[in-house]
Amino acid sequence: MCGTNGANGANGVTGSSIAGPVPRPNPYANTSDFLSNVANFKIIESTLREGEQFANAYFDTETKIKIAKALDAFGVDYIELTSPVASEQSFRDCQAIAKLGLKAKILTHIRCNLDDARAAVEAGAQGLDVVIGTSSFLREHSHGKDMEYITKTAVEVIEYIKSQGLEVRFSSEDSFRSDLVDLLSLYKKVDSVGVNRVGIADTVGCASPRQVYELIRTLRGVVSCDIETHFHNDTGCSIANAYCALEAGATHVDTSVLGIGERNGITPLGGFLARMVVSAPEYVKSKYKLNMIKEIEDMVAEAVQVNTPFNNPITGFCAFTHKAGIHAKAILNNPSTYEILNPEDFGLTRYVHFASRLTGWNAVKTRVGQLGLTMTDDQVKEVTAKIKALADVRPIAIDDADSIIRTYHLSLPGVSQNTSNGTSEPVAVNGA
Ligand SMILES: [Zn+2]
Repeated sequence: MCGTNGANGANGVTGSSIAGPVPRPNPYANTSDFLSNVANFKIIESTLREGEQFANAYFDTETKIKIAKALDAFGVDYIELTSPVASEQSFRDCQAIAKLGLKAKILTHIRCNLDDARAAVEAGAQGLDVVIGTSSFLREHSHGKDMEYITKTAVEVIEYIKSQGLEVRFSSEDSFRSDLVDLLSLYKKVDSVGVNRVGIADTVGCASPRQVYELIRTLRGVVSCDIETHFHNDTGCSIANAYCALEAGATHVDTSVLGIGERNGITPLGGFLARMVVSAPEYVKSKYKLNMIKEIEDMVAEAVQVNTPFNNPITGFCAFTHKAGIHAKAILNNPSTYEILNPEDFGLTRYVHFASRLTGWNAVKTRVGQLGLTMTDDQVKEVTAKIKALADVRPIAIDDADSIIRTYHLSLPGVSQNTSNGTSEPVAVNGA
């Protein structure tokens, strides 16, 4: 969070003449102000463009179509594809996806020149994302063009795309290492010729959330068109940067599934929505089919042959696992105590870990119930001690803990051999 604007600073207990207790303001309440688009943003899903730049990525046409359809069903606003001039197959794939008739608009990413723009129009894209490097590094070491040339070409390309009736975004590459005056005057110019969006791209992943906030807020004061943002994750800031960009008035965020892209990638779709569903639950839940996140991530993970990271927001294998006894007790009473995200929103279930030395008797009591057994609290405490004792000696599996519970139960007075007939499924605890 940037904390540079909004309501937080104005909060506080005011006046001493108010009668009765004054509710304490939440110091961590969402920051909001008139610039913020946190509850009104659009996603440009770039798995099929940025994601194709991921080291392991090779998407055949069938896979691209499958991913595009899934992203469309999920509810993303735009799907961005690799430039049709990258290869002949890229051209044909763009044509094929543009013809699917998806609700999401099909964009393709092109360099800032008329030949690329013409090819993209021919390939059937509904919008073009034009990009050119403006930083001194790229001007010197990549394309070698000066700002005057860049501006002239940009206007020419934008006017051509508009004349074809397509949407157009114009973006600099490496925006955060570009000269601010150059950048703002270029964007002011393209805004004046009717560009739909300008783009801020942290191509090298160098920006911090505060820098993002400052740049976007400044740009918001200079252009009237939409602002698209693109954040690489080299220093782990890609979600925070996207969030701050929206707070500062950006309108569009680029994502890719699992964050795949050049180097270690960009803002991941799932992680970004984890952030956004906390900040703008109504908007996010009404617009995106959150229960498809796992399926889409699994689809892409398989296509590029990676595993979902253990600590991935929402879908990491332990994202909704509670282990410590104190946590488990509170979670079983009220999941909000240790969960900011509700697994049910994503079609997932929470798991209360009970087969460890950190377990507590509340978690074990739930497991006893799931196994269809009846014990008094004192008995549960006793069997919990046995589980902890074994778990102190070696790591134990669910089966080990279950067998301790069953054996203990059988030893209780009046219990016969055939009373334990409960489930042996792992303890997934559904709860409100
Ligand atoms: Zn990128």
